[in-house]
Amino acid sequence: MTTPSSPLLSRRSFLKTLGVSAAVTAMPSVAAAATDSTSSSQELATVLDLEKCIACGACVDACHEANAAKFPEPQKPFPTMYPPRVKVSDWSDKRDVNDRLTPYNWLFIQSAQVEHEGQSYDINVPRRCLHCTNPPCANLCPFGAARKQENGVVRIETDLCLGGAKCKTVCPWDIPQRQTGVGLYLRLLPSFAGNGVMYKCDRCYDRLTKGEKPACIEVCPQEVQTIGPRDEMLALAQRMAKEKNGYLYGVEENGGTNTFYVSPVPFEKLNAAIDKGPGKPSLSVVPNSMENEENIGYAVMVAPVAGMVAGLWKVKSFLSNQGGKENHHD
Ligand code: SF4
Ligand code: SF4
Ligand code: SF4
Repeated sequence: MTTPSSPLLSRRSFLKTLGVSAAVTAMPSVAAAATDSTSSSQELATVLDLEKCIACGACVDACHEANAAKFPEPQKPFPTMYPPRVKVSDWSDKRDVNDRLTPYNWLFIQSAQVEHEGQSYDINVPRRCLHCTNPPCANLCPFGAARKQENGVVRIETDLCLGGAKCKTVCPWDIPQRQTGVGLYLRLLPSFAGNGVMYKCDRCYDRLTKGEKPACIEVCPQEVQTIGPRDEMLALAQRMAKEKNGYLYGVEENGGTNTFYVSPVPFEKLNAAIDKGPGKPSLSVVPNSMENEENIGYAVMVAPVAGMVAGLWKVKSFLSNQGGKENHHD
């Protein structure tokens, strides 16, 4: 079993972004954490009890439904990719694919059978962005399009993303997925800049601002996921793991995440048993990528641009909130 995470390498000034404000009436602790804009201790986290998941897929369907308006509508034919060696990534005719992550499928269920201590376990793992506490995708995005909110939600601002996929390259789980033929680059120099837009789970941030739970959590018949302030969720995950004599994932991985998996079998065994590959992340041990010297240097280099874009993002978010809606289309 893993233990609580080591102190984080914090670059809070770089990460400052808009906390959301909205009239919230339900779910006091979740709503308070979701709308907090001052205290990083109020980051939201989720605990997933893997013993409970029956792979019914209701959460996957709910994610599609709740986020359909955010999915890309690409223009074809696609401009030449830049540089030309970059492959076109087009999932627009494969929107029904639900056995891996795609720009149209931000959550899928990974299943495996695992033998442990003389028992056989069928384990199902809902997979999506883990919302890292010190996310390399956000720290290293050269254009500040990927950002971490004060409430811990890591989002990619699709209006600013150029689809260069740095976020995917530096994510230990290769979570963000690219769609070509959509986004800002089409309005710039499409043959010389950008390749589309990156997409991933955004924790249903718009539902959170209204005091609602993320769609995948609300719909689950087994109540696999619990969401709340990080310290409470960490304590819950540790308690559950202790009571079940089980194992934890997400506490130390990549320096700590805001997603804690509790499993009755060791994650080494689970990782060996699951199907891995493009769009199918591993469950391997992951060191803190923001302790890597190369990444620290790169983060310092891109900080000024990211900081400038942060201002634009803040204004855009403010205006969107003022208008009571946000344009999620590309
Ligand atoms: S809805 Fe719940 S039980 Fe069904 S697949 Fe998703 S997490 Fe598992
Ligand atoms: S899991 Fe990957 S995409 Fe999600 S916050 Fe962490 S680094 Fe970013
Ligand atoms: S939190 Fe929202 S966006 Fe993320 S997987 Fe769940 S339903 Fe999808």
